[in-house]
This record gives sequence, C-alpha cells and structure tokens, in this order.
Amino acid sequence: MTRVHILHAGYCMAPEHIAIQGGAWRSIHFPAMFALIEHPHLGSMLFDTGYSYRFFEETKTFPNRLYRWMTPVTLREADLAVNQLSAFNHRPQDISRVFISHFHADHIAALADFDRARFVYLPQAYKNVRFARGLGAVSKAFMPGLIPSDFDERSAPVDVTKPIHLPGEYAPFQKGYDLLGEESIIAVELPGHAVGQMGLFVRAENDQLLFFVADAAWLKRAIVKNRPPHKITDLLFDDGKIYRDTLSELHTYHSRRPDVEIVPSHCEETITQYVRATEAHP
Ligand SMILES: [Zn+2]
Repeated sequence: MTRVHILHAGYCMAPEHIAIQGGAWRSIHFPAMFALIEHPHLGSMLFDTGYSYRFFEETKTFPNRLYRWMTPVTLREADLAVNQLSAFNHRPQDISRVFISHFHADHIAALADFDRARFVYLPQAYKNVRFARGLGAVSKAFMPGLIPSDFDERSAPVDVTKPIHLPGEYAPFQKGYDLLGEESIIAVELPGHAVGQMGLFVRAENDQLLFFVADAAWLKRAIVKNRPPHKITDLLFDDGKIYRDTLSELHTYHSRRPDVEIVPSHCEETITQYVRATEAHP
C-alpha cells in the first residue's frame, strides 16, 4: 500500500485574520507543506517541495524582494526537502515524480533538487506563469528562477482531454484525473487561488484517503466552518469569487466525508496532528 509522509520545508508568518475571517490579529506559522508518497511499485514521489535556499537567492533584489517582505520566511537546513528525505532512505534522484499543486514560489522552490523527477501539473497552471517576468511574475507569486532549466523536457502535464467521472463518494467533485492509471492518486481542479491549482486524492495505507487541497484553504478550520479569508486576499488570488465557490465545495465534501483527511498545505494544526498520528502508529 502507498505510504504517505506529510512534511514541511520552512514556514512563513502572517496574521491569522488574513487567513480566516474572524481570526486573531496575532501572527501565526504557515508551514510550507510537502508530502513524500511511497508507492509500492512506481517509486517515491512528492507533492510540492516547500521552500529551499533558492527562494532566498531569488528574493534578494527588487521586485522579488517584495514577496519576502510580505511573507517573512524561516528555513533551517535540516528542513530542506532533500535533507528530510534522507531520513526515509531516499536520495533526491530516487524521486520519480513531483506533483505540482500550483506554481507559487513556496510550492516549487526545491524543484531543481530532484533531477530525475518528472513534473506533473495541470497545463493551464504553467501556461499562466510561463512567460511572466518582473512585477508581472511577482503579482502571480511566481519566480522564474525556481524553474529547472530542463523543466520542459521533464514535464508530464496532466492530460486534461482525458478526465474521469468520479463516483458519488467524491461529490460535489465530479471530474478528476487518474494520474497513475490505477486510481491511487486522483487529481481534481481547485480553481480560484491560482490558475490551474491541482488538489490530490491519495489512497494511503489502511485505506486512509487523504485529500491534499494546497492553498484552496489556508486553515482546515476555514473548510470546516466554510469561512473564507480576509477580503484583501482577493488581490492575491486569481479569482476571489471562484475561490469561495471552491471553499464551499470543500466544506460540503468535508461534511459528507469527515473520515477523509483534508490537508491544506499551510495549516500547522493539520500537519502536526498528522505527523503525531503517523509517529504513534508507524
Ligand atoms: Zn499559493
């Protein structure tokens, strides 16, 4: 059975009330989650990568510096994805695929560390940022310097011409993409936050279904309560209205399937709870 380890590489700080309406004014941690997915036959894969030192290189000067001012980042060497993988006896070249939820810097900063991996993403996500430079790129939270030079050769974008119709247990989600051809990893579109944002359903050991929802919500509580972030975040999102529609769908899904572990990429509570649970039952 597929084993999943939820990890994070670095974190940034921001006021809680930005991430959820009615939240506290104090700043809280937003870990940059990534997941190690150990498939029994198809090798080890990642969902996103978290931060890397390349993020600091890329944000040294204007205009990218703006991004670091808005979200001050802390990253220790031990937290780098490559360093954490060694604890699971994986070398960077052992990673066969990286599923990219979307191209914001905190999700792709370590792509270049995995030099044998194929990159899997929704094609519209990359199309939207591919030629963005300067302020246009910063406004999309995209840093071209984080994209490996051989990215195109190693890309294996999702074939969006071949969706599958999801069974009723996934409702309200109806359309998905069977990424490995054996239904253990199913991608769904989670629009609004960024163009072409991709969420993943991953069937892990003990038949536990995990749902990585990336930045469709910053906190699990936002999904449970169907409570969107501060209105100011509309400035950062691709489309605030569609974001709130996606959040409502996640809320409906959670009410129907509370047994499914929904994992927003920056929810510290969810990430630490999951880590504790898997440590307790290795
Ligand atoms: Zn994002």
